[in-house]
Amino acid sequence: MTLPDIQSRVAKACQDAGRDPQTVELIAVSKIQPIERVTAVLDAGHRVFGENRVQEAAGKWPDLMETYDGVSVHLLGPLQTNKARQAMELVSTIHSLDRPKLATTLARLAQELGHCPDLFIQVNTGEEAQKAGIAPSETDAFVTQCRDLDLPIKGLMCIPPAEETPSLHFALLRKLADRNGLQGLSMGMSGDFEQAIAFGATHVRVGSAIFGARVYDQ
Ligand SMILES: *Cc1c(COP(=O)(O)O)cnc(C)c1O
Repeated sequence: MTLPDIQSRVAKACQDAGRDPQTVELIAVSKIQPIERVTAVLDAGHRVFGENRVQEAAGKWPDLMETYDGVSVHLLGPLQTNKARQAMELVSTIHSLDRPKLATTLARLAQELGHCPDLFIQVNTGEEAQKAGIAPSETDAFVTQCRDLDLPIKGLMCIPPAEETPSLHFALLRKLADRNGLQGLSMGMSGDFEQAIAFGATHVRVGSAIFGARVYDQ
């Protein structure tokens, strides 16, 4: 279990960037991982986790939350509107608000439920056809639209294209967040979280570097 290593790398990256380590949230991405690896990280005292799918999160976390106090789960993966209610009842934060229809659904459900998780707008910084997210050129208008819906937008999120230098994408995301007055930057994964911290990440999403490689069945 390499949680302590990752925690000290986060602290070192903050120090190098002249940042207070308290301003960076380490999200341990537990998707697909065997439950004993997840409980090992919980037993080590970590409480902030990330999942990609509502169904997987709902199958795992309600039980764990009865055993461990103070857990928060962040949803990182694409959210279908028909899973939005379930997601809102389970997670503290949704990082994948990526389209107008989801924004209107979340706004309606927020009225009904009387609460809403914190939200990050996913920006498709690489403008990749197969990737979810708002185009950089449409981000300002979408932020405005979400604010008009009274949604609690905390920041922006990106997943840079695998084959490109991530720092260009981190810099772009930061520029878009700054000009919209957003503090939150969800960026950086196992391979690049230190660079993301140098560019101002407030939420780093680290899976395999904490838990080991994900082993997919078949
Ligand atoms: C899986 C995933 C991560 C974690 O990836 P690692 O490379 O294992 O750190 C982070 N963000 C998102 C959106 C993911 O889907």
